[in-house]
Amino acid sequence: MVVKPTGRSMTDMKDINDREIVRLTALGQLDFLDTPRDHGIERVVRLIKSVFAIEIGIVSLIDAHRQWYMACSGLSAEEMPREDTFCQYVIAADKPVVVHDATKDARFSQHPAVTGQEHIRFYAGVPLRTRDGHMIGTVCAIDRSPRGFADRELDILTELAGVAMDRIELLRSAATDGLTGTLTRRAFRDEADKLISLAVRHQHDLSGIVLDVDHFKRINDTHGHPAGDEVLKAVASACQSNLRASDLFGRLGGEEFAIMLPHVDAKGALAAAEKLRAAIAAATIHGDFGRLAVTASFGISTLATGTRDSGTLLAQADAAMYYAKAAGRNRCADWSDLDVDPQAGPRQSVLKAGTILYDDRHSRIECTVRSLGTDGAAVTVSNSAGIPPDLVLVVASEGLETRCHVVARDRQNLELAFG
Ligand code: GH3
Ligand code: MG
Ligand code: MG
Repeated sequence: MVVKPTGRSMTDMKDINDREIVRLTALGQLDFLDTPRDHGIERVVRLIKSVFAIEIGIVSLIDAHRQWYMACSGLSAEEMPREDTFCQYVIAADKPVVVHDATKDARFSQHPAVTGQEHIRFYAGVPLRTRDGHMIGTVCAIDRSPRGFADRELDILTELAGVAMDRIELLRSAATDGLTGTLTRRAFRDEADKLISLAVRHQHDLSGIVLDVDHFKRINDTHGHPAGDEVLKAVASACQSNLRASDLFGRLGGEEFAIMLPHVDAKGALAAAEKLRAAIAAATIHGDFGRLAVTASFGISTLATGTRDSGTLLAQADAAMYYAKAAGRNRCADWSDLDVDPQAGPRQSVLKAGTILYDDRHSRIECTVRSLGTDGAAVTVSNSAGIPPDLVLVVASEGLETRCHVVARDRQNLELAFG
C-alpha cells in the first residue's frame, strides 16, 4: 500500500484509508484510466520539460496498485507499481512534494531508480485534482541532476496540472475518438446501456464483443507510434465496414474496441466476430513504414437474465478476450467457454483497492478491483505472472474476504470466480 504505517496513529490511518476510498471512487467515476494517448496531454509533458529544462515529465493517474502514465517523456515505462513511485508521497501528503537531491533524502536514497541506471536525483510532483478537489493523479518534473525549485516554479507546475485537468475534462465530454472517429469509451457505454434497456424491455437478444489488437506494443516499438496509429485506424475501419448501421462501435482504450449487436444471439455474435477477425487479419496497412499486417483477439458475451448494464456484459466479454489471448490469439472466445456459472450474477463497475493472498497467505499482491459482483470480480495487477489459479481476494473497504479461482487472465488482468 501507499503509506508506510510507521509513526502514524490509528486515527491518522483511518483518515488516510477513508480519503483513499473517496479518491478511488472519484477516479472510478472519471472513468479515464487506460484511455487512448492524447496529444494535448503530451504537449503538457513537453512543456514541463522545456520550461524547467529537465529530462523527464509525467502526467499520471494513480489507482490502487499502480501509477499509469497518461503521458510521459524521458522514461520508457507506461506505468509503475504504486509502491515503487515517488508520487505515492504526493498522494499520502495530499500536497506537492519536492526532492532536491534524492541521494540525501531518507525516503528515496536507496530507491533503485536513484541507485541504479535511471540515476534520478530531482523530483517535483504536484496533485492532479478534479474540480471537486479529489486527487486522481500527479503531474511531475524529474531530473537526473540535483537542482533547486523556486516557489514560482512550483506555481508553474501547479498551473500545468490545471491545464492537464482541463484537457481531461474536455476529452471526457467528447463523443468521438480523435484518431479513429469511433465512439469514445464513455459515449459507447452510455449508448450501450440504452441498447441494453431496450433489449431487456422488449426481451430481444443482444450481444457484446470486445476486441484487442495482438502484440500491438511490438508494432509501436518496431515501427514507431505513427505506424501504430495507422494500424488502429485500419482496424477500426475494417470493423466498421463489416458492421451493420444499427451496431454500436467504440474505442475502449489504446488498442481495444467494443461492439454491441442488437437482436443478435451468441451464435450470431460468434459469426460476426469471426468475420471481423478475418477482415482484420486480411488487411494490409501501407505507409512510410512499409506494409504491416495485424491480428486481433475477440471476446463475446450475450445478454442473459440478470444482466442489466453494459459494465457486466463488457466485463464478461473482456474475460473471454483474455481467454482467447491465452489460447493463442487471433481467435474468438465466448464467455460461456470459460469455467464459469452461466447464470453468473450482475457486476458493478467499481474502483477499489484489493489484496490478493496466496501461498498459504505468505505472498500478497496489491490490486485494483474494477468490477465486483456476488460471485466474481475483475482485478488488475502490475504483473499476473506467478499468481496461482487459487487465491484469496480481500477488499477491505467492502469487508470482503473470499476464496477465488482464476477463470481467465492476461499479463495484468484476472477474472475471478468466488468459491
Ligand atoms: P497483447 O497481444 O497481449 O494484447 O499485447 P499488446 O502488445 O497488444 O498489449 P500491451 O497492452 O502490452 O500494449 C498495448 C500498447 O498500445 C501499449 C501502448 O503504448 C499502445 N498504445 C495505446 N494507445 C495508443 C495509441 O493511441 N497509439 C499508439 N500508436 N499506441 C497506443
Ligand atoms: Mg493488445
Ligand atoms: Mg490492450
